[in-house]
Amino acid sequence: MYAIKVELKLNNSEKTLMNRHLGFSRFCYNYALSIYNQLDNKKYKGGSSKKIDLIKKIFTNVTKKKSGFAWTNEMSSRVYQNAFRALKTAFSRHWKGLGGLPKFKKKKHPGSFTVDSSNGVILQEGGHRIKLPTLGFFRITEALPKCVSQTYTVSKRGERYYVSFSINAELIPPIQHEIFETVGIDVNLSQGKYCVISDGTMIAFPKPLKAAITKLEKLQYHNRNKQLGNRKQKISPSNNARKYYNKLAKLHKKVSDARNDFLQKLTTALARKYRHIKLETLNIKGLMANDKLAMHIADASFYKFKTLLQNKANNYGGFVESVDQWYPSSKLCSNCGSKKTDLRLSERVYKCEQCNLILDRDLNSAINLKLAAEEHITNRVGSIRIHHACGHENADGHGKSSLARKQEVNTKVDNFG
Ligand SMILES: [Zn+2]
Repeated sequence: MYAIKVELKLNNSEKTLMNRHLGFSRFCYNYALSIYNQLDNKKYKGGSSKKIDLIKKIFTNVTKKKSGFAWTNEMSSRVYQNAFRALKTAFSRHWKGLGGLPKFKKKKHPGSFTVDSSNGVILQEGGHRIKLPTLGFFRITEALPKCVSQTYTVSKRGERYYVSFSINAELIPPIQHEIFETVGIDVNLSQGKYCVISDGTMIAFPKPLKAAITKLEKLQYHNRNKQLGNRKQKISPSNNARKYYNKLAKLHKKVSDARNDFLQKLTTALARKYRHIKLETLNIKGLMANDKLAMHIADASFYKFKTLLQNKANNYGGFVESVDQWYPSSKLCSNCGSKKTDLRLSERVYKCEQCNLILDRDLNSAINLKLAAEEHITNRVGSIRIHHACGHENADGHGKSSLARKQEVNTKVDNFG
């Protein structure tokens, strides 16, 4: 099973619909828990599951019919079925010693709700929309493969809405990657670049993100002497300082939204195009370059870039390998393999004294990542799907084609994922 999580692209009325169902789910859960806590244990025997079934019956047959609860009938019935189920699960986890007693859900945490189809799985046609049982069709920010699933959970984080569900690996239709060969990607935030791929593709640093960062820096610079009060010295912040910090918070959010948007789109495109990607484990090069732009996003972005890419490679039937951090990808010559002892960060072009290769430094690095030997691979995440079924195996395992060996690698991947 694969878990898929995608962001929903909602208009205002759809957001309202989701918010109402988030509230409804919380309401049902808290309602059931509150009655549960009031049940007279002498009168009602049996386990928590049995008691919750009883409470559900009361809710369905009595409470929902009261005039004050008419609004609950406008809500998806699958949401309340699943809210009751979630409470059962919470209790059974508690009895197994896996968690505390279920607590009331608070309004300040938007939480999630689950809808499922009562008559089997739902076919997702793929593309930029998703069908949620009992709720209808919604737009999503990235394309889905054609797949089926029965249960969907909608969650909200900040002002963003996500839907997650799981699908069977066998049911993902094969995606024909445009590039089947291995590529290396060198993420190096310098000189307007985000990363370079060993096939020569250069991914530019996104302009909206750059603009947001520049704006943020200007604001910070102009207000460098502002103080937001001091609680110990009992100095309260000035109105101007308050205004500034509000503005600053908004700009920080803008930067992080632009960054997320860029990373989501980029990783989807890469995972769809390339079947096999090799990446570095750590990337501190951008930070060392002391490039302001790089410093702003390097640490936060590289981890996220990698995680997203790994998840998407998994969804799209490819895989991502991590090359260990000691592999000298930038110091090696991608042509003859000789290694430089010293390479300054200011040297943007790799010049080899042995074979006279002259190549962009980051491209050289990306090609080296592509060429990194098996012993430098520290981890492998991706699909178990075998693309080409061919290659015969001898009983002792010798004489396998390289493809057959690759298949073994792919099968092994399953344990990681
Ligand atoms: Zn060379």
